[in-house]
Amino acid sequence: MSGPVSLADAPADLAGTGHSTLPCLEVGESREATVGAVRVRRALPRRGRRTVGAWCFADHMGPADVTENSGLDVGPHPHIGLQTVTWLVDGQVLHRDSLGSEQVIRPGQLNLMTSGLGVSHAEEATGHYRGVLEGIQMWIALPHGTRHGPAAFEHHTELPRADLSGRGNAATVLVGEFAGTRSPARHDTPLLGAELDLRAPVTIPLRSEWEYALVVLRGAVAAQGRPLLPGRLVYLGEGRGELRLDVREPTRVMLLGGEPFPEPILMWWNFVGRSRAEIDAAYASWSRQDDRFGRVASSLPLIPAEAPYWQRTAESR
Ligand code: MN
Repeated sequence: MSGPVSLADAPADLAGTGHSTLPCLEVGESREATVGAVRVRRALPRRGRRTVGAWCFADHMGPADVTENSGLDVGPHPHIGLQTVTWLVDGQVLHRDSLGSEQVIRPGQLNLMTSGLGVSHAEEATGHYRGVLEGIQMWIALPHGTRHGPAAFEHHTELPRADLSGRGNAATVLVGEFAGTRSPARHDTPLLGAELDLRAPVTIPLRSEWEYALVVLRGAVAAQGRPLLPGRLVYLGEGRGELRLDVREPTRVMLLGGEPFPEPILMWWNFVGRSRAEIDAAYASWSRQDDRFGRVASSLPLIPAEAPYWQRTAESR
């Protein structure tokens, strides 16, 4: 799914990640933005919070009304250095990419695109779905070993579910392993993404050597006496073996975690890299439409590249 990330979200090349080696409970502010035709709340990245494990982007999207012919309406755009994770709570989206993939995404299905050195994709109306669209769009930063590799695409219609307490609480494991249940999805760093479907108070297992965050999608939940509202990133830090969640109504919450990402990343627009030169090269390739990002069979217009802010600053001098 698409960004784009701008300076309104976070400095592009801030050195620190805001990483905490101790347990904490930090409720972030989200920024309202528009992606395609839909309003989103950008929970990550934010100033002072760049990554949670390798997770580097999270947009809580909708709910919005869509029609057969008007949906998310994100035209073809490129990515480098990341995986896109699309997860719907309600509605449908049609994914098309430069690998030739064409896949309708439905609630409870994992849509996972790996950019490697370059891929492009579009998110469209399905041509048949009319109703509410709601979900979350996330990015995972690729490590050095695979970020220059080939692009790839996976779609998982069935994902494993873990029973959390026998009181109606369950988790769907998107990526990684949680509560003894493992997802078949590709991941290139030690990572977890799980959607918790909660009906009653619960204590969830965590790894003390990982950092974690929550994004509530629907409902109401509290931790350490603090209410957690939909669309905000709740950063939990490291050093927790478990977390108690006070569930007051049926709640769906995304649990993100992982080994703290060891490589400082640079994010601009739809690109995740390590240097301005890499971002400049990707911007130039998309601008001139060379072969790097391929072609997407979409009727939506291409999204024009946004010049890196450091290029604009140079031009204005
Ligand atoms: Mn995208």
